[in-house]
Amino acid sequence: SHPVYGRIDGPVVIIGFGSIGKGTLPLIQRHFDYDADRLVVIDPNPDTHLFLSQHGIRHEQIAITRENYREVLTRMFPDGGGFCVNLSVDTSSLDLMKLCREIGVLYIDTVVEPWAGFYFDTQKNAERTNYALRQKVRDEKAANPGGTTAVSCCGANPGMVSWFVKEALLTLARDTGREVDVPTDRGDWAALMQSLGVKGVHIAERDTQARRLPRPRGTFVNTWSVEGFISEGFQPAELGWGTHEAWFPENGHRQDSGCMAGIWLDRPGAITRVHTWCPTPGPQFGFLVTHNEAISISDYYTVGDASAPEFRPTCHYAYHPCDDAVLSLHEMFGSGRQQSTHEILDVDEIVEGIDELGVLLYGHEKNALWFGSRLSNAEALKLAPYQNATGLQVTSAVLAGMVWALENPEAGIVETDEMDHVRCLEVQRPYLGPVEAHYTDWTPLQDRWEHFPEDIDESDPWQFRNVLAT
Ligand code: NAD
Repeated sequence: SHPVYGRIDGPVVIIGFGSIGKGTLPLIQRHFDYDADRLVVIDPNPDTHLFLSQHGIRHEQIAITRENYREVLTRMFPDGGGFCVNLSVDTSSLDLMKLCREIGVLYIDTVVEPWAGFYFDTQKNAERTNYALRQKVRDEKAANPGGTTAVSCCGANPGMVSWFVKEALLTLARDTGREVDVPTDRGDWAALMQSLGVKGVHIAERDTQARRLPRPRGTFVNTWSVEGFISEGFQPAELGWGTHEAWFPENGHRQDSGCMAGIWLDRPGAITRVHTWCPTPGPQFGFLVTHNEAISISDYYTVGDASAPEFRPTCHYAYHPCDDAVLSLHEMFGSGRQQSTHEILDVDEIVEGIDELGVLLYGHEKNALWFGSRLSNAEALKLAPYQNATGLQVTSAVLAGMVWALENPEAGIVETDEMDHVRCLEVQRPYLGPVEAHYTDWTPLQDRWEHFPEDIDESDPWQFRNVLAT
């Protein structure tokens, strides 16, 4: 009963078999025609071996490194063709995608991941930003346009949320009585956002998934990669910086080259709080954790010159992870030490909760619109094996990105903003639970603490100055 979207000719190589790799495998098995004996998983973790051998899947128990990636991948893809699905930490997305394109292999990942060491080995914060990581991929695209498709950053966020921004814009246009043709290129999408009066976008997420067992002290608990979350949480807070901003943070830094869409703050993202809104909790704190989409969305919707734009939206992540992860962060930053035990909540131990992940478009004539997926763990359990709600939002985006790549095999390096959002959501939607639009009259000026003076701008509710919690 599951649609088969196409045939993958050649090997399918999955790099990394953590929470996302394990959840992506059954979707690949369900939705593609390929030679099962040519599917290989590469992961250094010996714990993955038993599962893979029980399921008859070839496992190369090695870590991909700067030194071996060329040898390993050219051996795995001996005659071009096939698909490389990179879902690991500590492997350079840029180097892997360049090699795959060189040998004619389709490629997809869910973040611009660097080689091991990038996140902590330098004191220079500007070099540790996602802006820097993304810009290198954009520079490679500019230097070598076209060619074999490599889809960059196609998870839930970055990824799916870029498709949600487009759906939300069309929803807002309809609900404000405008008749618009669906834009077909970047310039028209940016013009649409500008004409609708959107000032910015929060990637507004609330994860309420929980298990029965209280979080043991000394353990970092999350609903997806603990390693990935700690790495990005320690990167500088970062956001796409819009043209409506009238104030600039004291600890803020602009960039001096590249797309110029983002700024970063001299503070780790996972202890930088912002005021935001999601349907279930209403107003809430989120963390300003750096993400690729904060820069890519601000860049994509820029009107005019990159250095002096006529219009650009502010865009950033506003993430309330599951409560156990909030406590884990509190403990980690308070003690100055990373926990040595890591746990990812398993679909079978989660007793309640949903991952509510959407985009909050704000500043327009209807104030704010949240558009997103409200997938519960209970529903995820019924839809696909081996993953919680968070995982399924990511893996179904990987599936959609793979389908798009097979249908557009010579599109060069692309980000999700540049893909056909209608086709991608058509593939992904059966896995997203309720996908809903919610308007709210909440602004960051509401629900504050009136007993204390604050450095805010009461004349303009959607200034980042009001969103940032001090
Ligand atoms: P995880 O920590 O559960 O698993 C990572 C896996 O990579 C582990 O099994 C580990 O053994 C393997 N690995 C480590 N080093 C490796 C190497 N050198 N070569 C090959 N494999 C290696 O992580 P996860 O939750 O599965 O996430 C995987 C990736 O997806 C991370 O980079 C994460 O940031 C990203 N992610 C993106 C999104 C999104 O929405 N865009 C969401 C979740 C995760």
